Amino acid sequence: MLEKHGFSQTDDIADADLIILNTCSVRAKATDKVYSALGRIRRAKKESALLGIVGCVARESGADAFRRIPELNFVLGPQSYHKLPEIIKTPDTKLLNIDLGGLEKFDELPKMEKSPLVAYIPIQEGCNHCCTYCIVPYTRGRELSRPFDDVIKDTINAAKTGAIEICFLGQNVNGYKYTDENGKLYKLSDLIKEAAKLSEIQRIRFTSSYPTEMSDDLIEMFGVEPKLLPFLNMPIQSGSPNILKKMNRPDDLDAYKTIVQKLKQVRPDIQISSDFIVGFPGESDEDFEQTLNIAREIKYINSYSFKYSPRPHTAAALMPNQISEQIKSVRLQRLDLQLNENQREFNMACIGKEMVCLMEGTDKTGHNIVFRTPYMQQCIVEKPSVEITPLQKIKITDANKSCLRGEIIK
Ligand code: SAH
Repeated sequence: MLEKHGFSQTDDIADADLIILNTCSVRAKATDKVYSALGRIRRAKKESALLGIVGCVARESGADAFRRIPELNFVLGPQSYHKLPEIIKTPDTKLLNIDLGGLEKFDELPKMEKSPLVAYIPIQEGCNHCCTYCIVPYTRGRELSRPFDDVIKDTINAAKTGAIEICFLGQNVNGYKYTDENGKLYKLSDLIKEAAKLSEIQRIRFTSSYPTEMSDDLIEMFGVEPKLLPFLNMPIQSGSPNILKKMNRPDDLDAYKTIVQKLKQVRPDIQISSDFIVGFPGESDEDFEQTLNIAREIKYINSYSFKYSPRPHTAAALMPNQISEQIKSVRLQRLDLQLNENQREFNMACIGKEMVCLMEGTDKTGHNIVFRTPYMQQCIVEKPSVEITPLQKIKITDANKSCLRGEIIK
């Protein structure tokens, strides 16, 4: 969009004519980082340079952002990116747009002319689930699914312009539902089926999923579609039904485990990852032990763990029995020990296996190439003397907690 206005990318803040911070407000730390970065940038930038924030912190802060950082020229919420060129036309004004319009931005943003190897394709915006800790329903609004044909058009465009892997994106991605003019309903499984027909596309994945939206048609896809990677992020957040209830999350652990079993039945090599929150208001030692237990039992890999962070506009921020920072830190450490152990165990079990991996780039030394396995592990391979293609069959030769080593199989 900006290239059309004559812009190109620079790594040098002092040289930039336009500076955009794309922001996340899901935890307080992310929001704080935005304001400390803005403090640094406003001193480093040229006086004439336009400065702005886009995304969820913009939506959350609104006009207040201009008060905190007077140098800001624009504040655009996650559904107003397409309004950005307006500030180039009228640089002397302040541009504020934090509306939760809907899906207009997708019609207005220009098509990618060259895609990265991994193309992230938004299929749905917003979330109706209202987990009590989560700011997303406030920053991104109610759930909206993009028309099936539009998503497929973007997918074809990505495939024709260089993508090998497609990652379908949404705040509640497996809740994707679109009904066309004739009343025909399309689901995420339909998008996967259609994308898999494209010969250029070799790997398909999606994020982030809500457990009870894992419908049978979607589970089935893992059994019949080899391009769908055998790896699924399906956050449980906590192992305590008591805390899950307070989080307004699905609290039936047996139902969750049944979904995992069904997935393993159709795809025995599948691995599951999760997000976890420790120190949610009222979380007792016993509740936390249940989280450790479930992490051990499901043997989650590649997971994310966070200390609970009270967020504006959320119910949990007002709940009694908030947990101290100190307890949160200890619990996070203990959970990470378990998650690291799971990861190490899985990585070690990969030694000797052959996997088709996607090239990501060279490492810092320049002597190695970094690949991503089908489980999103990093795999480091010594740079071969001959030219190689982005997708390679690799034999895993070594592993530790954080990555794998391997050799390209000719
Ligand atoms: N479905 C969302 C999830 C984004 S947030 C989306 O894709 O937009 C990612 C993870 O952050 C959540 O799964 C949760 O584990 C964590 N998270 C969300 N709100 C949080 C809070 N208030 N404190 C700590 N962690 C939080």
